[in-house]
Amino acid sequence: MENTLIDSIKDIDKETPCLGIFEKVEDAIESAVKAQKKLISSYKKKDREKFIEKIKSVTLANKEVLAKLVFEETKMGNYEDKILKHELLAKYTPGTEDLTTTAWEGDDGLTIVEMSPYGVIGAITPSTNPTETVICNSIGMIAAGNSVVFNAHPNAKKCVAFAVHMINKVILSCGGPENLVTMVKDPTMESLDIIMKDPNVKLLCGTGGPGLVKAILNSGKKAVCAGAGNPPVIVDDTADIENAAKNIIEGCAFDNNLPCIAEKEVFVFRNVADELIKDMIKNNAMIIGEDCVEKLINLVLEKKDTDSKIEYAINKKWVGKDARLLLSEIGIDAAKDIKCIICEVDANHPFVMTELMMPILPIVRVKNIDEAIECAKKAEQGRKHSAYMYSKDIENLNRFEKEIDTTIFVENSKSFAGVGLGGEGFTTFTIAGPTGEGITSARTFTRQRRCVVVNRDK
Ligand code: NAD
Repeated sequence: MENTLIDSIKDIDKETPCLGIFEKVEDAIESAVKAQKKLISSYKKKDREKFIEKIKSVTLANKEVLAKLVFEETKMGNYEDKILKHELLAKYTPGTEDLTTTAWEGDDGLTIVEMSPYGVIGAITPSTNPTETVICNSIGMIAAGNSVVFNAHPNAKKCVAFAVHMINKVILSCGGPENLVTMVKDPTMESLDIIMKDPNVKLLCGTGGPGLVKAILNSGKKAVCAGAGNPPVIVDDTADIENAAKNIIEGCAFDNNLPCIAEKEVFVFRNVADELIKDMIKNNAMIIGEDCVEKLINLVLEKKDTDSKIEYAINKKWVGKDARLLLSEIGIDAAKDIKCIICEVDANHPFVMTELMMPILPIVRVKNIDEAIECAKKAEQGRKHSAYMYSKDIENLNRFEKEIDTTIFVENSKSFAGVGLGGEGFTTFTIAGPTGEGITSARTFTRQRRCVVVNRDK
């Protein structure tokens, strides 16, 4: 075991050895198989609920520790918002109450459809919400009666190891089985390949970018895929502009724009654009001109010249960094309270078409709702992830909601309302657009099983 990993866990937990963390991925899978069998044969649903309640309360109690570990290891986002993300998942991730049984009763007898576990789930997690995804996935997967083997993002393996250890310790303290949640100490593409090919792993759940989604969809195994987003925002000329400006900047700057749901580009009606920008500046945004936009492109994007067109990829070095740091790199000394960079660009600009995951918000002026929807659809790229709109015009709202066809659509509020922060409904850190499960929860990780009892004395 790598010393730093042992140290980071021992620093916080001096008594227990690392739980659920294996040198070899094969051992992580085998232990998860044993744990799941034990869970199903020796424990009841109410025991699973007890584990989950405890996982949630320990996450809440350790939210600062978890946020600090993630921030120190990944060096992305900001500490305070990471505390809030852990609080959100601890309070609003559903457990066994999410599972329902459907029954039909009649002259011919009784038929029930139960939500049953898959068995062992292989879960792949991102660097942007590492422990949040691992704890949230674990809650839903265990609630449904599964065990889980994680292949964490290599850049976040230590904080994830702490989360895996913490979850196992909690379950053991409630008298539960060991290794319900496991991981390989050094996750790689090879360890993912072993997980994908192992016949004991019955379901894959991947949270990450397009490369990951493609890989697990090609595995030939049932997969829940939570892929990339690039959420557009439309602001029309009936909107409460003050409210729009405040919410858009807060949503875009949250955890330095790391969340896949965070506002990534704005399409605003021309006749209210100046007012929106003015109000955004009042809400800690700084506007930059064309020269600085060019400098910022050179800093945060990597240009790839192909035969037919120029393509851009993000320079990962700058993902999740503070707006003030990005500004200082292009020679601007911004005020302390600046948390978001805004700029006016055209609809095909690389800042619009690339999922930046940095507090940079491109703004495009549009003449009407037709143009706004067309541009927003192009920017979202059919990912079926998230979109937002500020308007009092029901027709415009309905039209955009239908045409963009995303998993999350929030009206007149910020992105996080879509996952239960300042909006109704439960939370998740795995939003499965490509495979259609949407806002995942315990029921996502179940198989439908029908049991039929026929009335013999008919
Ligand atoms: P990433 O795609 O680089 O990594 C995610 C995971 O996939 C990691 O464990 C990584 O090791 C693995 N991976 C990466 N490329 C792979 C490939 N070609 N084959 C197999 N495995 C691969 O993502 P990241 O930078 O950590 O996270 C950011 C991305 O994830 C963004 O695109 C964001 O929108 C997306 N995301 C989506 C959701 C959602 O719920 N839909 C949630 C969080 C993040």
